[in-house]
Amino acid sequence: MEKYSGKSVFSGIAIGKIRIFKKGRQKIKNIKADDPKKEIARFNEAKSKAIDALQELYEKALKEAGEQSAAILQIHQIMLNDVDYTNSVEGIITNQNVTAEFAVAITRDYFFEMFSSMSDEYMKARAADVKDISERVIRILCNDHSKPTDSKVPSIIIADDLSPSETVQLDKDLVLAFVTIHGSSNSHTAILAKTMNIPAITCVNMPLDISLNGRMAVVDGYNGTIYIDPDSTFVKEMQLKQEKELCKRKHLLELKGKDTVTLDGKKIMLYANIENTVNLSSVIDNDANGVGLFRSEFIYLEKNSFPTEEEQFQIYKTAAETLNGKRVVVRTLDIGADKQADYFNLEKEENPAMGLRAIRICLTNQEIFRTQLRALYRASAFGQIAIMYPLITSVDEVLEIKKISKEVKKELDEQKIPYSQNVEEGIMIETPAAALISDKLAKEVDFFSIGTNDLSQYAMAIDRQNSKTDRFYDPHHLAVLRMIKIVVDNAHKNGIRAGICGELGSDLSLTKTFLKIGVDELSVSPSMILPLRDKIRKTDTSKVKFKYDL
Ligand code: PEP
Ligand code: MG
Repeated sequence: MEKYSGKSVFSGIAIGKIRIFKKGRQKIKNIKADDPKKEIARFNEAKSKAIDALQELYEKALKEAGEQSAAILQIHQIMLNDVDYTNSVEGIITNQNVTAEFAVAITRDYFFEMFSSMSDEYMKARAADVKDISERVIRILCNDHSKPTDSKVPSIIIADDLSPSETVQLDKDLVLAFVTIHGSSNSHTAILAKTMNIPAITCVNMPLDISLNGRMAVVDGYNGTIYIDPDSTFVKEMQLKQEKELCKRKHLLELKGKDTVTLDGKKIMLYANIENTVNLSSVIDNDANGVGLFRSEFIYLEKNSFPTEEEQFQIYKTAAETLNGKRVVVRTLDIGADKQADYFNLEKEENPAMGLRAIRICLTNQEIFRTQLRALYRASAFGQIAIMYPLITSVDEVLEIKKISKEVKKELDEQKIPYSQNVEEGIMIETPAAALISDKLAKEVDFFSIGTNDLSQYAMAIDRQNSKTDRFYDPHHLAVLRMIKIVVDNAHKNGIRAGICGELGSDLSLTKTFLKIGVDELSVSPSMILPLRDKIRKTDTSKVKFKYDL
């Protein structure tokens, strides 16, 4: 039995035959061209054909895989129309006298390198998208009409990487698992695997050898491993594990529609963390109580210039309406540090995590902030929007924010633009300073949400982006847990609720501790909602003893 390991993207066990998905990169035969104008026309014609084909695929995906998975095909259409992308192709054709296909290939490689080298995982994953759209145009220019290979037997798909459009074209009833040699956990193939509940692993260091076709394999999506040619004892063992996991999953699905209450009657609100409106369907699918953290900076990161008030309003309105009265907590712009957009023209800083980021940018450049607040208040007329401010360190900051927010509302009143009178305003507690003065902050805001990702990095002085410091990073550090307790106690003394929206909130080994501390709400990735509901419903807080010296 051969064994290869990678990163688990979606858990589950798959047992079946391998199907190698190999895409030959289109060989570009003609490089030099005499008539740049003709090549530009060929490029534009191929581009419109590609956009039409993507629209057809979008409609297919919408029916088969739902809006969340289909949305990427719309994004691809937008990317193909991107001015920078088009300018690059046309510039190369004109300046280098080359064919359209060659210019697209150079542009593909340039943008691929650019996205791949970004530190932000989300932006990194866009590299696969730019490759996907470029290869589609090249295939059209080279008259290649081939489609992904088809098979009639449900199989384990192994590929170098799968582009979103390739993934959508696969018949999902014939896919037992996805195994890719490249790809990231944020890639759309990964998102699709999660939506379709298909075990998936990426970054598997294995040969993409055609001779593997038809051989038996087991994919263990829990530990991110593929076993090739397993013996019958191992297959039986994995079949048992598969049955047990199916039972567990069935049990989790039965928790949909049920309350998240501990055995001793404490009701906990379970919210989802999202980055864009595409994620909304998984919030509903996983029966979250709403959205506890909408990282609004992704709206800015996906654009080449500041999103307008109207654009933002439409996005927040969609979120509010889709969740139909359930709470949607939108965190205002948290850009800077690891999240950069060129058009902000932020100066390079020695110490970006401690520099001009998040609320500091909003208070420095108030126009950006006011535009976002106007959009948020306007959207509040369409559902239950709450606003949350990141990276707070002082009461003065909160007072300044409240003054701006009041001015924005006054302006809307004067313009007779409707908004809800019940918009809650809360803050993230993600700096030790905020945690330690949470008694004072609690008097000024409607709720607290603890951002344990930043709180941990600032408490331990460990850069969350730097893997070299992993050895010194203790996710359960007593300092962080003690701060959480301080924050929750101060919130309750002042009659407000406190939740956790950082990654620690989904650490099931800490759930009992958080419940004992008295955390009121947890906001986690949508797929963790049901496992947490299960854990909470089995906990009796009166019987929990602190494992930690809090
Ligand atoms: C956090 O810091 O814990 C948090 C939720 O915010 P982000 O991860 O977006 O910085
Ligand atoms: Mg944070």
